[in-house]
Amino acid sequence: MTSPSPIRDGFRQHVFGDAEFWVPERYINLEPKGGGAQGLVCAAVDTVTQQNVAIKKLSRPFQNVTHAKRAYREFKLMKLVNHKNIIGLLNAFTPQRTLEEFQDVYLVMELMDANLCQVIQMDLDHERMSYLLYQMLCGIKHLHSAGIIHRDLKPSNIVVKSDCTLKILDFGLARTAGTTFMMTPYVVTRYYRAPEVILGMGYTENVDIWSVGCIMGEMIRGGVLFPGTDHIDQWNKIIEQLGTPSQQFMVRLQPTVRNYVENRPRYPGFTFEKLFPDVLFPSDSSDHNRLKASQARDLLSKMLVIDPQSRISVDDALLHPYINVWYDEQEVNAPAPGPYDHSVDEREHTVDQWKELIYQEVMEYECAHAGRSTGGGGGTSSTGSGSAGGAQPSPAGNSEPNGY
Ligand code: AMP
Repeated sequence: MTSPSPIRDGFRQHVFGDAEFWVPERYINLEPKGGGAQGLVCAAVDTVTQQNVAIKKLSRPFQNVTHAKRAYREFKLMKLVNHKNIIGLLNAFTPQRTLEEFQDVYLVMELMDANLCQVIQMDLDHERMSYLLYQMLCGIKHLHSAGIIHRDLKPSNIVVKSDCTLKILDFGLARTAGTTFMMTPYVVTRYYRAPEVILGMGYTENVDIWSVGCIMGEMIRGGVLFPGTDHIDQWNKIIEQLGTPSQQFMVRLQPTVRNYVENRPRYPGFTFEKLFPDVLFPSDSSDHNRLKASQARDLLSKMLVIDPQSRISVDDALLHPYINVWYDEQEVNAPAPGPYDHSVDEREHTVDQWKELIYQEVMEYECAHAGRSTGGGGGTSSTGSGSAGGAQPSPAGNSEPNGY
């Protein structure tokens, strides 16, 4: 028999390889679920709410300025945003009791079943594919309504449940993100970044449409569309398939970038019928599927447009025939969250100042939610788990797709 795990101040220790979690005793049955650059995520059961939850440990989030900014921004935004297609915060705590001892932040979220990398591998029918895309667009639109333009949507940061519901996990790049340097053993995935991000141009909301187009294309093709090893390689992959962009686009580039881009070989690109031939689409046996395949291809051809000035907007994508079968006013136009103070993104602090700022945020959260629950470590607010809108909409009055 193994000895019981240690308890300290109402927090129990759980060990996974060389990682350890200290969480309030209310959380049991912890199991590792995944990990990113920020730390490990565990599934658990909350014995107070009887809910399955995900607990993400941010280990020493203030270890360097980049980590700290990201953790602080993510925490602030998770508290602010409340939409069924954006991950919501159920609880937050630190097991350390003083600023001097402060090390780790734990964020408790609704537990989802898989990330989109896993779902992309499956043969999705049109109903599931369009429903997943619709939810992505609703989540993105909601972020935009708070002035948050994501710019870094990717399948690993989108999670789904087996009932086909979807949530975006993170808030993308801060306005000043490009200027900081991060030492991390994790390779940053850039395959889904729009041309205007790769080429360092200005951007507007439809920068996020490019990423949705890449994700949709990958669902159909079953492989990454533009898997560049670096920005240059990625740009090549884009123009080889979509063709060299127009002069109108080139003149908006910074001189050095323009010089590089204009001196690449010229590619005519392929038609969308060639890039995404009929055989790649879900079974063509019915008229319904044939119609859907042509609508899907039409939407793709409007999203995967290099020049953002000619790319479809989020609003128009939501109205596209492939997507608008799911349209629900309360989901599409949920009340905007309070405005986000972007000065956070521009702030420069030392590591020690960040440590204090993050600690204050956690303490503030714990105080605001204390008393709402029994069992240590803050509250049981479940506001994040879906409040905008009621039941899922359905095409032709059916219920949501039956799982993926
Ligand atoms: P992150 O550290 O937020 O990038 O998450 C890393 C991975 O952990 C994701 O790609 C998911 O596989 C998993 N994950 C994160 N949050 C959740 C959640 N709320 N439910 C289920 N899995 C999650």
